[in-house]
Amino acid sequence: MPYLICLNSSKAVKLPENGCLTVGREDDADLQVVDGEVSRHHFQLKSSPGGGHELLDLGSANGTTLNGVAVVPGKPYALHDADYVKAGRHVFIFSSAPPQRMGTTCPGCGMRVHVYDQGRRLHGFDCPGCDRHIDGLGK
Ligand SMILES: [Zn+2]
Repeated sequence: MPYLICLNSSKAVKLPENGCLTVGREDDADLQVVDGEVSRHHFQLKSSPGGGHELLDLGSANGTTLNGVAVVPGKPYALHDADYVKAGRHVFIFSSAPPQRMGTTCPGCGMRVHVYDQGRRLHGFDCPGCDRHIDGLGK
């Protein structure tokens, strides 16, 4: 069962097998984030007809990036294990397996970043605090 993991907090949300999960600033978002650069309904992860999950930007004001590349609003992008998604100052990792908790301190800004791993090396990602690229962690 895949998870969406927020690196700014310790939140890990299980993704529905059939359906979608909305991330945003609004109370009714499935994963609510307190971030002025995040739209009320910013992006969605939804199950795709052929299996797996897709990322969909919901027309957010400040955009969404997937693995550091801006996505086109309204266009679905297939997600792969350990892909990272950024909205405002928040970074999320798509994980195909239940996460185990790890952590690191960003060498750029000193922010404590929550990182999860499934017993193998994660891809790198960009620090939520300062955008510095942090190399993968783990084995
Ligand atoms: Zn940083």
